[in-house]
Amino acid sequence: MQNIALEQKATIVNPTIPTVSSNLPLTGSKMKKVFCLLLLSMLSPAALSPAALMAQDKPDPWIQKKLQQFKPLTDEQKAAIEQAVPNQSTAKPKKTRKVLVFYRCEGFVHNSIPYGNLAIEAMGRKTGAFSVDLADTYDVFTTKNLEQYDCILLNSTTGMLFPTADQQNAFLDFIANGKGLAGLHAASDNFGRHPACRAIVGGEFGGHPWGAGGNWAFKLDDPEHVLNIAFGGKGFWHSDEIYQYNPQTYEGPQVLRVLLSLDMAQSEVSKQIKDGPREVPVSWLRKAGEGRVFYTNFGHREDTFRKPMILQHMLDGIQYAIGDLEADATPTAKVGAKSPALAPAKP
Ligand SMILES: [Zn+2]
Repeated sequence: MQNIALEQKATIVNPTIPTVSSNLPLTGSKMKKVFCLLLLSMLSPAALSPAALMAQDKPDPWIQKKLQQFKPLTDEQKAAIEQAVPNQSTAKPKKTRKVLVFYRCEGFVHNSIPYGNLAIEAMGRKTGAFSVDLADTYDVFTTKNLEQYDCILLNSTTGMLFPTADQQNAFLDFIANGKGLAGLHAASDNFGRHPACRAIVGGEFGGHPWGAGGNWAFKLDDPEHVLNIAFGGKGFWHSDEIYQYNPQTYEGPQVLRVLLSLDMAQSEVSKQIKDGPREVPVSWLRKAGEGRVFYTNFGHREDTFRKPMILQHMLDGIQYAIGDLEADATPTAKVGAKSPALAPAKP
């Protein structure tokens, strides 16, 4: 079996959050409960004492985790990202656009996250395609707060765990009602606890036989597709860590429009697995309700965010998710076979 464990999240199985609405009127039994709680709090004021409140208000472990993990970028690193980001967006924004970049990790934390955050901010600023708010606390997921955004971008989030059903529903409704979702790299190692969200992303991490230290070949499954224009109609080589997807969770070509995949015609790629050659998709788009989803597995390595070609692909995908770049999301299985653009011989 492949080296699945490295990025596997902690296997905490969360009970499915019941979908409840907080707006329901209080029923008889609910009213009784509220009354009992009120009575209890009056009888035992200690339950509401400052000490008790502080005990409930535990420090967020993520704050410590990110301080340890994320090193500040040097001026050179920042300049390299700024330089690599496209100067112009493929589509002109139809109006002022705003992207919520979420980067919290309950599982594996990627060092590349601050590089990705900076690159996304820079691409929005340089091209004028969108502005960015960065967030790493779940309180941003309310219907009211999300109204101001056109797209949620998950930058290598792992093991997300919405604390309440309302927060999960706000996320799901945002997309279903016509907004966008963009996912980079571990955004597909993220929703094991929330199967409905996982299905929208399109697939869940099932190991990465293609490690971050390798240089891998990629083919364009859809060479003419507008979200592949960054690659100029040609397959290519790129160093990054590449996932395969748990077959039970992968939505497949019946649902997804697969843009590019590992090129198994190259032995360098196919020898990493014993059951190959087989299709391992890397980037795709899809419709989800009225909304639009773009996902790419690129983004494990910090230097991925200094590659103009990859950044152009990401920007185009984000513009599709926002709703500014028209792109055909008809599932691959329904558009018939296209002849892929294979990678050249290994450089
Ligand atoms: Zn990774």
